[in-house]
Amino acid sequence: MNILTFDIEDLWVYDHYKIGNKEDYIPRLDSYLNQILDLLDERGFKATFFCLGIMAERYPEVIKLIADRGHQIGCHSYGHQFLSDVSREEFEEDTCKAISILENIAGNKVTAYRAPAFSISEKNKWALEVLAQNGILFDCSIFPAIRSFGGFPSYNTDRPAIVKYNGITMKEFPISLTDMLGKRIAYSGGGYFRLFPYSKINKIINRSDYVMTYFHLRDFDKEQERKTKLVDGENLILRYFKNYYGLNSCFSKFEKLIRENEFVSLERADTMIDWNKTDIINV
Ligand SMILES: [Zn+2]
Repeated sequence: MNILTFDIEDLWVYDHYKIGNKEDYIPRLDSYLNQILDLLDERGFKATFFCLGIMAERYPEVIKLIADRGHQIGCHSYGHQFLSDVSREEFEEDTCKAISILENIAGNKVTAYRAPAFSISEKNKWALEVLAQNGILFDCSIFPAIRSFGGFPSYNTDRPAIVKYNGITMKEFPISLTDMLGKRIAYSGGGYFRLFPYSKINKIINRSDYVMTYFHLRDFDKEQERKTKLVDGENLILRYFKNYYGLNSCFSKFEKLIRENEFVSLERADTMIDWNKTDIINV
């Protein structure tokens, strides 16, 4: 199965990191979102949209639009703080606040979660307990390899599994990875999707029986202002690769991907899995 998910955060990201003027980027991001929703209708697909609480608070109409078109609303935290930077208490507060904002707007129970930057790791497994206590049934926060932020290399599968931790159970849908140059890396979203040629990504998808995607509107926005001011110790070439490489062709690549493959939402994927046969992983 191919699971289609988006992280809906960019109106806040552009705001926060001062990427261009609101008058310019709001219509552009709205237009990408509308094109995506139309394309999904055309294909008869539903997707899961992990939405940021602070963005939902500022732009509730965006979340409402997605929910009204029949898609699943998941939670992507309130303030987009990486779990490595917060205490358990802060995480509890952030999660509870985000879920309540999203549920109020969408009018549905929020049962799916993705941590900012896939930041559930060895060091903060307690996050799974907090999520379960807040009604989350499906987590999509584990990146089962080494990563600059987060990453959970000792979690040894990139397939759906039941995770057990301290008495709670969670259905875990990790990000899917592929082997490249001796490393396990992602290919199905973010900068990786911009970087690799379509033919390569499509080939991996066709031979996989589980694919978890993660797209952002900013990965499609080729007109976005390129930031050249670096933070301390940052490398300009690396920054360019991470943020802007492949932007010009990314949306057409995405459209092709959607037209040539079948996708389902997370809640639909849940019903397609025989959970009695999946791995049980004690973390
Ligand atoms: Zn994010």
